[in-house]
Amino acid sequence: MGRRIGVLGGTFDPVHIGHLRGALEVAEQFALDELRLIPNSQPPHRGVPSSSAADRLAMVQCAVADVPPLTVDARELGRDLPSYTIDTLESLRAELSADDGLYLLLGWDAFCGLPGWHRWEELLDHCHILVLQRPDADMDAPEALRDLLAGRSVSDPQALQGSGGQIAFVWQTPLEVSATQIRQLLASGKSVRFLVPDAVLAYINAHGLYRAPN
Ligand code: ATP
Repeated sequence: MGRRIGVLGGTFDPVHIGHLRGALEVAEQFALDELRLIPNSQPPHRGVPSSSAADRLAMVQCAVADVPPLTVDARELGRDLPSYTIDTLESLRAELSADDGLYLLLGWDAFCGLPGWHRWEELLDHCHILVLQRPDADMDAPEALRDLLAGRSVSDPQALQGSGGQIAFVWQTPLEVSATQIRQLLASGKSVRFLVPDAVLAYINAHGLYRAPN
């Protein structure tokens, strides 16, 4: 068996302890050699105070600098349009050995939306999917995913085999923090200390990010 590489996409506007703690727990549970945080490019107008791709990338870099096995992968930035996940997976696969395992982390909500994704039926050709689920969640998968779940899910996540092709559920209680909450706190002049790593807070302050316009 080759290396085990996890992938967590997100806006990371900004990256916070919810992302980092969740990612670290999955990395430990699956003995990942590396878990790449992949900042997504986003349309220029989101209706909220948001930071540039360069700032979002720099904050993730600050956050994971001394936290192996977490790393940053900037391949989706520097393009004007958002990347499709299938393209990102194909591009990652092109750099890996055939026996390297790829593990795509998806929250339950994102997983349920899979049938709307570009070429979604090919995703499992390239990776395993780890569905992050809250222990208390109600799970009713959309009809379009029932066959896939019946055929591809394994009940014991540790039993995932090969470099891809299977689905496992990871039961995790997320920390109650969101990037939206952090942006709102900053815009109203409040502290976000302990919600983001100190290095990220220092970056936010040094660059005056998320402040309400005067
Ligand atoms: P926003 O509030 O701007 O929508 P967010 O905090 O949800 O942002 P994203 O960048 O959209 O952050 O999230 C990237 C990924 O991290 C998603 O898969 C999301 O489910 C997951 N995630 C977000 N918040 C948490 C959290 N508190 N704990 C664990 N995972 C999280």
